[in-house]
Amino acid sequence: MAFTFYNTLRRDKQLFTPLKEGKIGFYGCGPTVYNYAHIGNLRAYVTHDILVRSLRRAGFDVNHVMNITDVGHLSDDADDGDDKMVKSAEERGKSVLEIADFYTKAFFNDTDRMNITRPTVVCKATEHIGEMIALIERIEKNGFTYFAGGNLYFDITKFPSYGELARLRLDDLRSGARTEQDQNKRNQGDFVLWFTKSKFENQALVWDSPWGRGYPGWHIECSAMSMKYLGENFDIHAGGIDHIPIHHTNEIAQSEAATGKKPWVSYWLHNEFLVMDKGKMSKSAGGFLTLQTLIDEGFDPLDYRYFLLGGHYRSQLQFSMESLQGAKNSRKSLTDKVRSLAEKAKSGEQGGGGKNTAHYIEGFNKAIEDDLSTPRALAELWGLLKEGPVSQDALSAVFDMDSILALGLEDAVKGAGGGEDEALSREIEELIAKRSEAKKAKDFTAADNIRQSLKDRGIILEDGPGGTTWKRL
Ligand code: AMP
Ligand code: ZN
Repeated sequence: MAFTFYNTLRRDKQLFTPLKEGKIGFYGCGPTVYNYAHIGNLRAYVTHDILVRSLRRAGFDVNHVMNITDVGHLSDDADDGDDKMVKSAEERGKSVLEIADFYTKAFFNDTDRMNITRPTVVCKATEHIGEMIALIERIEKNGFTYFAGGNLYFDITKFPSYGELARLRLDDLRSGARTEQDQNKRNQGDFVLWFTKSKFENQALVWDSPWGRGYPGWHIECSAMSMKYLGENFDIHAGGIDHIPIHHTNEIAQSEAATGKKPWVSYWLHNEFLVMDKGKMSKSAGGFLTLQTLIDEGFDPLDYRYFLLGGHYRSQLQFSMESLQGAKNSRKSLTDKVRSLAEKAKSGEQGGGGKNTAHYIEGFNKAIEDDLSTPRALAELWGLLKEGPVSQDALSAVFDMDSILALGLEDAVKGAGGGEDEALSREIEELIAKRSEAKKAKDFTAADNIRQSLKDRGIILEDGPGGTTWKRL
């Protein structure tokens, strides 16, 4: 397959060629673990997942690295505001490490439930302080830093291509010399590599360093950890569009300042935001929706995945419970159609439309190759199910497509017993729905009764990340 990706660095779709044949180094910025991920954050990780699954299906060996930010991220990405981890720990009466541990587990619980493949390497900032210090030393040795007011800063004027990714004008960032927020900065765009004179006397985690006891700025962790696991130059880096003007801009500046090897990363992929009716969704502003909120409203995590796949990752997506309900209904009919295809294929029934399976697979591949167009890929899957042939081949093609979409279609067919009669499977699905209603209403007796009555009929229920499935004893 020949992928083209929209590369933010070039503001253009480009043919994808990896640095090493057959192998891909991919770094996706991970969560700051001071709270649950909100459903907007999960859009970023579904985007990474579609990318990784697509590349692996095409035969690439993908090394996917993701960081966990457990230190140094202030509420404003440009070194302003409170320390997110410390604030959260204080509010909850816990230690920073307890908070980090709790929300890291919660994060993977969410991503597992959404069928998001776990990264090959998950690395915590607090476990890579040595690598960050070593990288800062290289940047300092190459003359890109200054020490002021107890902190070590990156001087953006020493790096002429600063801001290329975001199309920023260096002159604009040079102005405003000493900023209101931080009197030590020589230029508005300068950023902290290492804090010693912390503005937070209560900073919980500090380490010794050549610049004094302190802690790293937020951006350096991604440069240090990505290069540790993927080498000094690698193929793809991704994150949400909010990271373009500050975080990723600073990552590029400090990495290239350290190594002198440009471009540090070949392809930059950025997902647009999920927005609410009221506007942007943010973790720090509070009042955000989590995956659990959607589950409590009666949705399956895969309903939300289906909803996300209906939009291209580079288009803003408006969330509402009504549109999620639409996605839920569509996913239900999709699953029903796949079950019905499985039953017909099993019984040897032939038929269907004029176009063969290969036609839809080709359309699907084209959509995915073209900057990961999941809406078009979904349309090809629907086309195959509505107008394609009825055959074992067609069923295999559905499962092949689902190796990227990951809507649990193979499990759904297995859950239906592969070729059970439709009336029975519908009845069981209805009982499963009643049982989850009962569980939601905390009526555990009713829920247990439903499970037991099915067991008496030789059917057992299994609760998993994608919802409840059933099989014969
Ligand atoms: P954070 O945990 O705040 O560092 O964010 C984790 C990821 O979610 C980053 O890649 C952000 O760019 C991305 N992100 C944050 N808010 C949204 C949103 N509303 N929609 C899509 N992606 C988002
Ligand atoms: Zn990052």
